[in-house]
Amino acid sequence: MPELPEVETIKNELLPHVVGRHITGITLFWEGIVRQPAVQEFRSRLTGQEITGIARRGKYLIFSLSSDDLWITHLRMTGALIIGQNSAEPPRFTRAIIHLDNDTGIFFRDPRKFGVMWLAKDTNSIDSKLGPEPLEAAFTPQVLAERLARRTAPIKALLLDQKLIAGVGNMYADEALFAAKINPWRPGGSLSQEEVERLHRAIQRILWAAIGNKGASVDTYFRPDGTEGTAHFEFKVAHGLGGKSCPVCGTTIERTVVRNRGTYFCPRCQPEL
Ligand SMILES: [Zn+2]
Repeated sequence: MPELPEVETIKNELLPHVVGRHITGITLFWEGIVRQPAVQEFRSRLTGQEITGIARRGKYLIFSLSSDDLWITHLRMTGALIIGQNSAEPPRFTRAIIHLDNDTGIFFRDPRKFGVMWLAKDTNSIDSKLGPEPLEAAFTPQVLAERLARRTAPIKALLLDQKLIAGVGNMYADEALFAAKINPWRPGGSLSQEEVERLHRAIQRILWAAIGNKGASVDTYFRPDGTEGTAHFEFKVAHGLGGKSCPVCGTTIERTVVRNRGTYFCPRCQPEL
């Protein structure tokens, strides 16, 4: 599933291709990808608009337009936005093409069809569901400590809660907890100040490194040019390393399930207290 580093990479790499371009039409191979308004209105409100910018909030991509609409996408489990020639054969699982005025298009590829896009006048509906952005200056160790205080849920589940902190998903939560040497089952409110500071540092370092590596292509994530990111080559525990050895101490990495999410950790480096 694309997380903050993957969505940030898509934003960064789409920008030079799409900003200043006009949308000349929409091809929908699966209409369920449009959440609102109705398909016909979605098409008519987008067509003719110039894309003036792209922002990311959590795992959402927000395209600003020359009209007062925002075109918002969420890639969910398996979505990708690929830049291609309008005349090219669409990649397999393409659900929609946003055609641009230089004979290119944004191909919304999504094998599992959970991805969505819609139009909105503002980002209020998103902002109300999201906590702070972990890479912004306002996200300090104190902010993280306040948000974890008195929480009894496992820290792994809290890191996945988009209302607590935006953009972190299963892979980077496991990596951050490993780097901070914190057991995924620890209640959020039980972390010491030093542990919160370690976790804060780990979250930022791991997300920045993954952005530098253009995201993790463990599944169906591709960069807009269709190539893969390399962040997964640096994963220490995340995503399927069960049965492998901890790179720090050599202990076998264990898999557990926290609130329905497969979770990988080193039982020696991340002991239960
Ligand atoms: Zn270890």
